[in-house]
Amino acid sequence: MIDIHINPVIQSRFNTVDFSNLVFGKEFSDHIFIADFDGNSWGNYRIQPYGPIPLSPSLSCMHYGQAIFEGMKAFRTEKNEIQIFRPLDNLRRMNQSAERMCMPFIPEEMFMEGLKALCRIDQKWVSSLNDNALYLRPFLIASDDSLGIRPSQNYMFMIYGCAVGGYYSEPLKVKVETHYVRSCQGGVGEAKTAGNYAAALYATQIAQKEGYHQVLWTDAFEHKYLEELGSSNLFIRIGKTLITPSTTGTVLKGVTRDSVIKLAQNLGYAVEERAVSIDEVLAWNSQGKLDELFATGTAASIIGIAQLDYKETTICIAPKENSLAKILNSKLDNIKRSKEEDIFGWNEKVI
Ligand SMILES: *Cc1c(COP(=O)(O)O)cnc(C)c1O
Repeated sequence: MIDIHINPVIQSRFNTVDFSNLVFGKEFSDHIFIADFDGNSWGNYRIQPYGPIPLSPSLSCMHYGQAIFEGMKAFRTEKNEIQIFRPLDNLRRMNQSAERMCMPFIPEEMFMEGLKALCRIDQKWVSSLNDNALYLRPFLIASDDSLGIRPSQNYMFMIYGCAVGGYYSEPLKVKVETHYVRSCQGGVGEAKTAGNYAAALYATQIAQKEGYHQVLWTDAFEHKYLEELGSSNLFIRIGKTLITPSTTGTVLKGVTRDSVIKLAQNLGYAVEERAVSIDEVLAWNSQGKLDELFATGTAASIIGIAQLDYKETTICIAPKENSLAKILNSKLDNIKRSKEEDIFGWNEKVI
């Protein structure tokens, strides 16, 4: 057990929030969990009101980008229990990101107890209305106040919550990116590190001005192999086969991606994790074999791609009533809310 000092809010903001109309990423719950690393060990565990924190202007993460994060969700079940979906998988990935960015290891005890303590104190923020959930954002930042370029000695680990609803309401329009690069072999694409998102903004902004929701990144050398979308992984369905790009260093290993692989196999689909090129997709499309394209991630869950543009070619896939994306999405959602049996043991009970 870690000893968490709790300084609760005096006035909760709960009553100011319209839970029937949540905008993603705006409605932060009342508290934040914080811990400090001093070069040797973790300590100073505390929960305090969510809000501005004083930081040194020379804080190393703000200059040299040693910053990593995670995202997962807590759900309220019909029995009024609260549970977090696959948090230990997020911890494993966070520690892989930490190693790549020369940051300290996050102990399981601190991660899990911090998450659970935050969910308990902010439990009323875990809304069961519609698609609502409490999005949990653990993050780790370098906190030396010094100008040298080297791994920081000091770090802060924090977790806050954000009440969220559904993410996208319509199927996606996606542009295959053939100029800019998100990630390359030997780079940091597999780490959930802040700089990857800054580096992706420019190409995404151009695509959004052209009317797309997202770009689909391709490999850095030939712009031929498909990788992933902004913050979600890609799946292609050809009959009873699902194909997803392999995660061999340039693609984020999504927890939702892994859940989809396991659920689809359980439903009798063959799943291939391999390199998949845009030429294959174009060929499947012209042969009438391309049944579905969809994206997977914690924030957006499982969402169909209705249009994929590659250079001058447009691939349109009319959203079907009984698409695998929809079937998997409701199955996954039911498991997260304990409306369906959790056969893989994914839920971590909080209350
Ligand atoms: C977080 C993220 C994903 C999705 O991962 P999940 O664990 O399913 O939420 C995919 N790609 C990128 C680049 C991401 O940052």
